[in-house]
Amino acid sequence: MNPEEKIKKLAEYINQSKYIVFFGGAGVSTESGIPDFRSDSGIYNDKEYDDPPEVMLSRTYFFNHTDKFYEFYKSKMLYADAKPNAAHEILAKLEQDGKLKAVITQNVDGLHEIAGSKNIIELHGSANRNICLNCKKIFDVNYIINSESTPLCDDCGGLVKPDVVLYEEQLNEQSISAAVEHILRADMLIVGGTSLAVYPAAHYISYFFRGKKPDKKSPIINKSETPYDDIFDISINEDGIGSVLSRAYRYL
Ligand code: ZN
Repeated sequence: MNPEEKIKKLAEYINQSKYIVFFGGAGVSTESGIPDFRSDSGIYNDKEYDDPPEVMLSRTYFFNHTDKFYEFYKSKMLYADAKPNAAHEILAKLEQDGKLKAVITQNVDGLHEIAGSKNIIELHGSANRNICLNCKKIFDVNYIINSESTPLCDDCGGLVKPDVVLYEEQLNEQSISAAVEHILRADMLIVGGTSLAVYPAAHYISYFFRGKKPDKKSPIINKSETPYDDIFDISINEDGIGSVLSRAYRYL
């Protein structure tokens, strides 16, 4: 199949489906200027800091070196000017059209919400929610960006912690069960912008393929091939998910 035939096929699947679930990773936000952390230019290949991200973004590091944690976090994880791209927008439209029932994301940038999606499961939390560990007051991302060093609560002086899942922390149980429930109910699962390399992404996806009937469809859209491409109905290896979804949307 040539690239345009694949786009038509994707549109055909969307047309036939009534319960679409989107499962996305970092590649969904690269068109918004947020780097894929695992790409060559991402923070996992950044030698600016002595410790690797797995250490600096860990729970232990947060509590033992809070100032350094925030220095790293604010410079590498927060993109205040990032705006939703066509991928976020088309997914929000598909939800309004009644086709798409849930967006499950590994991203913490909050762009699906800004684009207007309602049912969003943020497996790794959101950088736009930050909680005072003392009084539980919630702060948005600007509060973190605007605080000079470590953000403290303006009510009680308590330490404010991002509501993102750090290394050594467990994913939220409710998010996990909601994600699995939607994947089990879906008649179409669109996987986008993830190589499925980061545990437990592939594990979630596997629920869709257990006893999958031929009328249930699953495309994957990722810039490079993944080890799992064979199990998908089509794999679209293109860079921009926003561009792929916009082109497909024109055939709907
Ligand atoms: Zn407080």
